[in-house]
Amino acid sequence: MIVATSIDTVRGLLAQVRCSRQTVGYVPTMGAFHEGHLSLMRRSVAENDFTVVSNFVNSLQFSPDEDFERYPRNLAEDNQLCEQVGVDLVFAPAAEEMFPSPAVISMQLSGLGEVLEGKYRPGHLEGVATIVAKLFAIIGDCRAYFGEKDWQQLCVVRSLAQDLSLPAKVVGCDIVREPDGLALSSRNRYLTPEQRAGATVLNRALRHGVDLIVKNTEATVKSVSEAMSELIVAEAVVETLDYAVVVNSQTLLPPSKLEGDLRLLAAAKVGTARLIDNLGVKL
Ligand code: AMP
Repeated sequence: MIVATSIDTVRGLLAQVRCSRQTVGYVPTMGAFHEGHLSLMRRSVAENDFTVVSNFVNSLQFSPDEDFERYPRNLAEDNQLCEQVGVDLVFAPAAEEMFPSPAVISMQLSGLGEVLEGKYRPGHLEGVATIVAKLFAIIGDCRAYFGEKDWQQLCVVRSLAQDLSLPAKVVGCDIVREPDGLALSSRNRYLTPEQRAGATVLNRALRHGVDLIVKNTEATVKSVSEAMSELIVAEAVVETLDYAVVVNSQTLLPPSKLEGDLRLLAAAKVGTARLIDNLGVKL
């Protein structure tokens, strides 16, 4: 496995790979790997001849009051895990390599980029879209693997690739969870044991929401959102609930009726960790 820190090195290596007609799989990450990240890498290794993982904590997607400074960074351990799952190339640039001078260009989102995370974390999805556009420009033609854990991010990245005709085929991957349902996240390590136990409420609430939709003929978009919200705010370790909603899985807008391809999404602060989760249901 090669670890590269420069854009030119990555471009040169990938040019050679493409010369020998090998397919490229790409997994963008911010490091601090857990099984969720590794599942994306394993899938890329299984479906492509050559897999590249980027490991870069993107300052653009954190607002000043968020956890950019304390976000876990563990490059040596991350590289070992990449090697174990068969990754061929790790791109771990320094901030100066990615932003050698103050950026003039940034992405602006509308529609599905403005709701939910767009509302509660202003600038976050724009920061994601800007860095992913840049990373796609570096990596080029590839299959790019993203977790459904960040459902709205996946939707934004699909739109990014489509709207800008970028040569990346975006592949959504299943959410990896702890046995008790908590979605794996680099931020789970901020939780105390008590908060960790209570954090399962997000997944419990979403599953309750799916149950209501599937089994209760009286359920409405509003009643399902309210039932999920009630469960979440009743959990002692929850500091604030941002949202617990049911939306159309593609537009991320509330449907007029509980039908079609739906996504239930929730975001809440548990201690100092802001956690998100989602589940899909098709009717
Ligand atoms: P991050 O390093 O948190 O930016 O995540 C990098 C990629 O891993 C993103 O595509 C995430 O959606 C994905 N990911 C994070 N957690 C999980 C999880 N529990 N299951 C599946 N994918 C995940």
